[in-house]
Amino acid sequence: MDLHYDSLFIGGDWVRPTSSERITVVSASTEQPIGSVPEAQEADVDAAVAAARRAFDDPAGWAHWAPADRAAAMERLADVLERRAEDVVQRVSAQNGMPVAVARQLEGAFPVVLLRYYAGLARDTATEETRPGLFGGNTLVRREPLGVVGAIVPWNFPQTLAAFKYAPALAAGCTLVIKPSPETVLDSYTFAEAVAESGIPAGVVNIVPGGREVGAHLVAHPDVDKISFTGSTAAGRSIGEVCGRLLRPVTLELGGKSAAIILDDASLDLQNVAEKLFTATLLNNGQTCFLGTRVLAPRARYTEIVDLFTDFAGALKVGDALDDTTQIGPMATAAQRERVERYIAKGRGDGARVTIGGGRPADRDRGWFVEPTVFADVDNNHTIAQEEIFGPVLSLIPYADEDDAVRLANDSDYGLGGTVWTNDPERGLAVAKRVQTGTIGVNTYLPEPTAPFGGVKASGIGRELGPEALANYQELKSVYLG
Ligand code: NAD
Repeated sequence: MDLHYDSLFIGGDWVRPTSSERITVVSASTEQPIGSVPEAQEADVDAAVAAARRAFDDPAGWAHWAPADRAAAMERLADVLERRAEDVVQRVSAQNGMPVAVARQLEGAFPVVLLRYYAGLARDTATEETRPGLFGGNTLVRREPLGVVGAIVPWNFPQTLAAFKYAPALAAGCTLVIKPSPETVLDSYTFAEAVAESGIPAGVVNIVPGGREVGAHLVAHPDVDKISFTGSTAAGRSIGEVCGRLLRPVTLELGGKSAAIILDDASLDLQNVAEKLFTATLLNNGQTCFLGTRVLAPRARYTEIVDLFTDFAGALKVGDALDDTTQIGPMATAAQRERVERYIAKGRGDGARVTIGGGRPADRDRGWFVEPTVFADVDNNHTIAQEEIFGPVLSLIPYADEDDAVRLANDSDYGLGGTVWTNDPERGLAVAKRVQTGTIGVNTYLPEPTAPFGGVKASGIGRELGPEALANYQELKSVYLG
């Protein structure tokens, strides 16, 4: 792969960047450069926001299109992205090490599904409602498009998480400036080309590849009306502070340290559950915010469950992300691998026991690989049980009874995902209801487009997905009718 771009997608056009600074993208599997793009500067962000502002304020523009026309344009974009899915998939996998099979399911397919789903909602959801008043007269309640959205996206699922934002925003009639992470900018060019081809009007979608400084400039920009952010809790706190000062609406999807609760009746036969367990605990090399990386196991079955997870992790195929059979690819960056290795060392230092993995795979001299790693004898107070590692590392924590399991699950700063594994779905649901989290699965886990997704506590504020997410991009106006 050798992809080089010289312009930025701003105002529906390919424009020259204001500086010669560039971002070089490196393959996580080979450590070789695979492309480069201009690095957007503050002046480029200003131009992108101005273009989004003009597109939003145009009295005949996107915000004023009939919802059915916006829906049709979104469906055209979905069609182009579907056609170009494999290109997106290859770029994402090469950049961040996501196994290509995972990338096909998520990065290739999910944005297409979301665009079609929100296009349908744009068509079917009324934006005006007349309510009879209690003091006589009626009120017209309107849901108006909120304005210019700054969408800031991390590197772990660059296209899917961008679509979590742009699909409802476009459906609502907003315009966007999207800032991808520097690690994953090549896929944003395929997306920009798809936008241009779809006939979505100039300036409705603008893209500024860059780091946190341009991200911070976008967050505080006076002409931005809303920030939608996915990323680390540390960055989310700082963005939340700025938005608080500016009284700017903000949605924050942040980190997680979710619990996978194995109930004492669960018959975990790897033949049957390995795939679901994988998605719930190790998807995308552990670089997924919702993963249940704290596995809570009943003390009476602890040894058996440690053995099961050891076998499960040991059987995973580690390899180049672009190999169809790879289950665990490399960490996205050298820094990310160092971070994961620091946590593994900390876990050992705190007295937890590595039952498998713990190092770099012997047969990989290139790429930022870490072996799938299982820690047994972890105390929930250990750093590896409290902080997000963002790598293929699971911590197995024993519990005494169901109350203890719920207490441990909730003894976390975070609350984003989680699972309950049981042979009794009703019992599983009862436990799921007691866990403080934004989402949780019983014997399965995967974000569902039709249901709200997001976190409580340090995992964020607000929800994406579902019909609820349209409201993130709408402003309510009540018109009292005399
Ligand atoms: P990060 O917070 O460092 O960066 C995320 C994005 O924000 C990048 O585009 C970055 O350039 C930008 N950014 C960073 N600081 C900023 C600031 N002060 N102002 C504006 N923009 C800023 O996170 P990361 O390391 O790229 O991503 C991994 C993190 O994302 C993990 O903690 C993970 O849990 C979280 N995540 C959360 C969800 C979710 O839905 N809750 C989904 C995926 C990832």
